[in-house]
Amino acid sequence: MKRMEHLSLRRQITILVGVLCLVLVCSAAAGAAFIAHMRTKQLVMADAADTAATMAAMLDRDMFERFREAQNVAQMQPLQDIWTGDPARIRQVLNQLQSSFPDYAWIGYATPDGTVRAATRGMLEGQSVQARPWFQDGLKAPAVGDVHEAKLLAGLLGPGPNNEPFRFVDVAAPVRDRDGTVIGVLGAHLSWSWADARRRALLAQPGRTGNDALWVLAEDGTVLLGPEIGDKPFSAERIQAMRRERTGAFEDETGPEPILTGFAVASGHRSYPGLGWIVVSRQPDDVAFAAARSIAWTILGLGLALALAGLVFAHFIARGVARPLQIITSAADRIGRDPDTLVLPRIGGSAEVIRLSAALRSLLRRVGSAEKRISEVSSRHEKDLTDLRHLAETDALSGLLNRRGFDLLAEDAFDQFTRSGRGFAVLLVDIDLFKLVNDTYGHVAGDEVIKVIGATLTAALRPTDKVARFGGEEFVILVRDIGRGGIMTVAQKIRRAVEAASIRHHEHAISVTVSVGGAISQDGDRDVQDVIERADTALYSAKAAGRNRAVIAGLQLQLATSAA
Ligand code: GH3
Ligand code: MG
Ligand code: MG
Repeated sequence: MKRMEHLSLRRQITILVGVLCLVLVCSAAAGAAFIAHMRTKQLVMADAADTAATMAAMLDRDMFERFREAQNVAQMQPLQDIWTGDPARIRQVLNQLQSSFPDYAWIGYATPDGTVRAATRGMLEGQSVQARPWFQDGLKAPAVGDVHEAKLLAGLLGPGPNNEPFRFVDVAAPVRDRDGTVIGVLGAHLSWSWADARRRALLAQPGRTGNDALWVLAEDGTVLLGPEIGDKPFSAERIQAMRRERTGAFEDETGPEPILTGFAVASGHRSYPGLGWIVVSRQPDDVAFAAARSIAWTILGLGLALALAGLVFAHFIARGVARPLQIITSAADRIGRDPDTLVLPRIGGSAEVIRLSAALRSLLRRVGSAEKRISEVSSRHEKDLTDLRHLAETDALSGLLNRRGFDLLAEDAFDQFTRSGRGFAVLLVDIDLFKLVNDTYGHVAGDEVIKVIGATLTAALRPTDKVARFGGEEFVILVRDIGRGGIMTVAQKIRRAVEAASIRHHEHAISVTVSVGGAISQDGDRDVQDVIERADTALYSAKAAGRNRAVIAGLQLQLATSAA
């Protein structure tokens, strides 16, 4: 099952349906083939038994006719006188009888002492048949004698058909005078080739394969007609079983290959009692069941073709089933990578696929609106954060940077100074005698003055210079990329700008001056506070020197304190 997980749905369905088809069709085909085989076997066996029975019935009927013929001739009233008369007359009758059935090899009439009085073609006339069983039996009653080789006639008849010795079946009947006294025996030898002719005729019938063998066995199982005359091909038990069942079929497995054997016991016809012959019809199994096997193979072949068709069918069905899923999967895969793909296509195919597609579409819609809400909230937060940061770094009264905002910038400038040697300057600006402004015009006017001075400082500087309010009436300025020469110029520029400014508050025009202390970053500074500290010292010097002047730390005092 684990291995199945690596296979696509399409392949899984194809394999499952294919295996199912194969198993179902093969078992159905095997079952059908088995049934066909069994049925054909029954038919073939019945047919074999039937052939044997037909042959047995033919032999019985022929024998019955010969048996009756002998009796008729022996007992016929008009012939009664000829038996004691001229032997030529008797011979004439006997010849006539023989010509009516050519398989009579010999017909003779013997007197009770066993001397042949007359016979067909005069054969054995005058000779004694006293010792022959047919004569002995015929003296008593109508009799039949089983197949035997020619004895007395062997020399006269010459070799039999196929150069084999002649074999005969005997019929005999006593001849009586008017008083019923036995005056002789009429005997006939029936050539056994008669049975062979019957056998050939039967096998030559249309529909026979030609591979059949038809044997006639004596009562004890000895072959009378067949390949090995005199052999006993079947066991005594088998012969017994055949005698018991009279007719039927079985598979003879005593030989190298199984042979289907049908049999029938010839049990006589009317007054003919029968000699207990057993007719067997033999056919090798592979010939007998060829039709059954061909049916089985045909069914199996058809079954396999059907299974193959099922497999192809399953392949296409699986493609149909898996295709909507593939479309959904590839569309879902594109979402988030491909800006043009925002929604899943609406897919059909089956109720489940439609529901899956609808559910995924609705999921995506919900995800989309949640995403929008999150982005709104986050941008609002971002703005709030910017505002807060601005507030935290801004002085409320002047709108300039406060100490915190200034420190961040100054630290950044110090970092740049230590990294790349770009110098910067800090100017501290303190309004002179501000207490007086408050005292003279009031605190509100003082606030206004602070605001205007802040704006004046900003206006006097380059945009890259940053002005901050350090608290009270004190400002700090960060001037970047400046050297010793330039810093005093900037300091004086702002001092003069403030001096020139006139601040209106109600009807008053207020003028103030500032003192400026400056310092430039230098090697050995540990942090920006070192620079600010030097600027503070310089501011103190400026105040001390009389206010409204600029002092730059480290520059010559005369120049630095210039108030011009
Ligand atoms: P000098 O700096 O020249 O030595 O004299 P000064 O009068 O300016 O002295 P000092 O720095 O000691 O006084 C600062 C005064 O500024 C004290 C305080 O009343 C006033 N002040 C501080 N902050 C504010 C403010 O935000 N608004 C107003 N209106 N006055 C302020
Ligand atoms: Mg002050
Ligand atoms: Mg002051």
